Amino acid sequence: MTALRHVVCPHCHTINRLPEGRDFRAARCGKCRGRLFEGRPVDLDARHFRSFLEGHDVPVLVDLWAPWCPPCRALAPVIEELARRREPEIRVAKLDIDRAPDLAESLRVTAVPTLLLYHRGQEVARHSGLLSRAALEAWIASHLGDGERMRRAAGS
Ligand SMILES: [Zn+2]
Repeated sequence: MTALRHVVCPHCHTINRLPEGRDFRAARCGKCRGRLFEGRPVDLDARHFRSFLEGHDVPVLVDLWAPWCPPCRALAPVIEELARRREPEIRVAKLDIDRAPDLAESLRVTAVPTLLLYHRGQEVARHSGLLSRAALEAWIASHLGDGERMRRAAGS
């Protein structure tokens, strides 16, 4: 039996099941036919935040930001570059906390930018403040590296 990976469509929020081992970069949603990965961060809102995290079984990195925050603007190109380079093994998303203040409070996010790293709906790490691309990659690897290797070993 072919293993399936679960990925949430950024357009219509349907969970798609994709066969493991295929190149997902060209994959389209079975419902709306939109591209599942567009090489750029997905803009989340409060309504779809939880289902988006829980619907993926690839890790999801969320950048919580605000338009009035200069370090957030400095981090934005780093996050965009990460999406270009690391999708589809990592899903990259953004949440404007001014548009989701109640959600930011329930996540106990008190500073921006804050990066939240989720795997299978669970928060595995968080970081507040600006990071270089190299530091961001190292931070992600330190929290996912072993788990991903173990998952691949168990799944194959
Ligand atoms: Zn769709």
